[in-house]
Amino acid sequence: MIVVKIGGAQGVAMDNVCHDVAALVQQGQPVVVVHGGSAETNEISEKLGHPPRFVTNQSGFTSRYTDRTTLEIFAMVTNGRINTLVVERLQQAGVNAIGLSGLDGRLMLARRKDAIRIVENGRQRMLRDDYTGKIETVNGGLLHMLLDAGLTPVVSPLAMSPDGIALNVDADRAAAMLAGAVAAEQLVILTNVPGLMRSFPDESTLITHLPAAGLEQALSFAEGRMKKKVLGASEALGLGVSKVIFADGRVEHPLQDALAGKGTTIA
Ligand code: ADP
Repeated sequence: MIVVKIGGAQGVAMDNVCHDVAALVQQGQPVVVVHGGSAETNEISEKLGHPPRFVTNQSGFTSRYTDRTTLEIFAMVTNGRINTLVVERLQQAGVNAIGLSGLDGRLMLARRKDAIRIVENGRQRMLRDDYTGKIETVNGGLLHMLLDAGLTPVVSPLAMSPDGIALNVDADRAAAMLAGAVAAEQLVILTNVPGLMRSFPDESTLITHLPAAGLEQALSFAEGRMKKKVLGASEALGLGVSKVIFADGRVEHPLQDALAGKGTTIA
């Protein structure tokens, strides 16, 4: 079993990724696809007159502040447009893909972070009414049921609180939780850089192999959203996934190259 996360950042070649996914599925390799959507949500939010707002917590993690309107725009863009386009491309490539968010069949249950402590202009304050969550449980049985029926799940990063409220969740960490839940051997995170760099953006500092013990240190040189991927990798390994690969999603054969050892392999 392989879980593939397709990044939402610009430049990722969705068609190429879908062709590679199709090749694996046709060889009998079960795949679960997860995608993001933050870059496009930012764009659409601007157009709709509700510009995105990012907040940074004490540990330096940056996340989107998701009020109800932002949550609905996020759902519209990720679960509406991006999910449909991934399913469309996989169907064109001959894969019977099925799109779902974490709400469908209670695929992903999350704890709502309803008050987040942020740092703004050097001062701490609490933000309430945030619709983001941290995934706690994944319905792995549902994914196995779909896979057993010959379907390829395509998951968008929305989860549900125990009382049925839709929440925005981080797609990299969602991919890690899903990989753990289906006992995947590998989690491949495709993005718009060749992998994790010791000194970003100097590509000559690309890390090709990182032992799990090096993840702690990697958190210090991964900036911004790359931190979430490092955290996701650590969570996936903790859940029994043998290998996490960060690789370039912009190339002709993104998944094939990643599985052949290009990018950053964390094990
Ligand atoms: P995605 O949409 O694929 O999830 P993100 O934009 O969230 O991608 O994260 C990938 C980005 O992380 C890269 O485009 C790069 O700008 C940034 N980044 C920060 N630190 C590093 C690092 N040490 N190595 C590689 N990329 C990094």
